[in-house]
Amino acid sequence: MTRKEERRRRVLRWSAMLGAGIVSAAAIVLLIPGALGLIAAALAVLLALVAGHRVMIAPPGVAILTYHSISPQPGWLPWSRDIAVHPDTFARHLATLDRIGAKVIATREFVERRRAGEPVPDRSVVLHFDDGYLDNHQYAMPLLQRHAMPATFFPSLDFIEPDDRPRHDGSGEGYMRWAELIDLRAFGFEVEPHGVDHARVPTSDKIVGRLDAANWRQHAWMQWAATPGPKHDWFRMAAPAAVPLGSPIPASGLALAERAWIGSAREDTTAFVGRIERDLVACRTTFSQRLGSPPRIFCWPENKVGNEGREIARRLGYVASTGGKRRNTAEEPAEVLSRLHIDDRALGFRWLPAEALYLRASVRLMQGNHYWYLLLAPMQAFRRFMIALRSRLGDDFC
Ligand SMILES: [Zn+2]
Repeated sequence: MTRKEERRRRVLRWSAMLGAGIVSAAAIVLLIPGALGLIAAALAVLLALVAGHRVMIAPPGVAILTYHSISPQPGWLPWSRDIAVHPDTFARHLATLDRIGAKVIATREFVERRRAGEPVPDRSVVLHFDDGYLDNHQYAMPLLQRHAMPATFFPSLDFIEPDDRPRHDGSGEGYMRWAELIDLRAFGFEVEPHGVDHARVPTSDKIVGRLDAANWRQHAWMQWAATPGPKHDWFRMAAPAAVPLGSPIPASGLALAERAWIGSAREDTTAFVGRIERDLVACRTTFSQRLGSPPRIFCWPENKVGNEGREIARRLGYVASTGGKRRNTAEEPAEVLSRLHIDDRALGFRWLPAEALYLRASVRLMQGNHYWYLLLAPMQAFRRFMIALRSRLGDDFC
């Protein structure tokens, strides 16, 4: 059962119990006049609340929070609205974790404890940063150090800048170099792979559109797929260099999770498995060479993975990988990490008290307290409303 299914089931059961308690109380008041009826009705509601509480409090889970860009100027990323978090929001998130007594632990410690069958500290939280953006080094690292919080950074090999000189200023656009990743390691942070090229593959002969001047950056995966090797500076291109405007955009899926459409057929199992294996082996080899020890955790691009991928990761010595959809409770397999995507503008616009409250509710919910969904759900609905309003009134709104 995914955490969304669990949440729906628990909140529905709680609502039904509470509703039954209220209906029973009303019936009791009608049937039994006077103080006795009122006392019996109150007891009926109390009983419903106690029974409902047992439903709303689930076995504890560990919130793994996944960030991407942490930047005041993430506009160079075409998808920044979906994945970028302002440093002010991020600072507020870390302060919130401190305030609610979260114990931030490293991914490897979390996985090793699970593998050994040991309990994790109460209210544990794990922090992840995907894609290896340079702003992680410039903005996230100092804030994490201020709060003495460990974290794991997941760059993709082809997006790591080849230059070896670290940068401590500049625009913050682009991706980290090995020097900056080694710097993170030197400060005690974990650096683990996120695949070679974050690739997508065509998954059928269906065409979903054509590349044009407005959309080619959103479909940058097509340029990446046609550019073997380093592609850390793709965003500096003024026009698509590898796949020209006007080219058809095929239906696509994540390369390490779905079979590619090659010619007029779907690739066979041998080719599919071979492709995943080459990716994970390349990550293991390069990470071992550059960081001095083999990687232990694998982060699947966009958290998409199938049984084949899990089996290959296991065989190649990765003790855990992402892509789970649950809450990281003690009963779940130690090799599967379920993560929560964290973004900005909880209400459709940035307001730090709301960012803090939304994060708190998200963490508590993942830790098993489903009462927080009663707050989260209206916040999410309000956000959807604001986003719809913005798209109707124009992007300058909010
Ligand atoms: Zn990613």
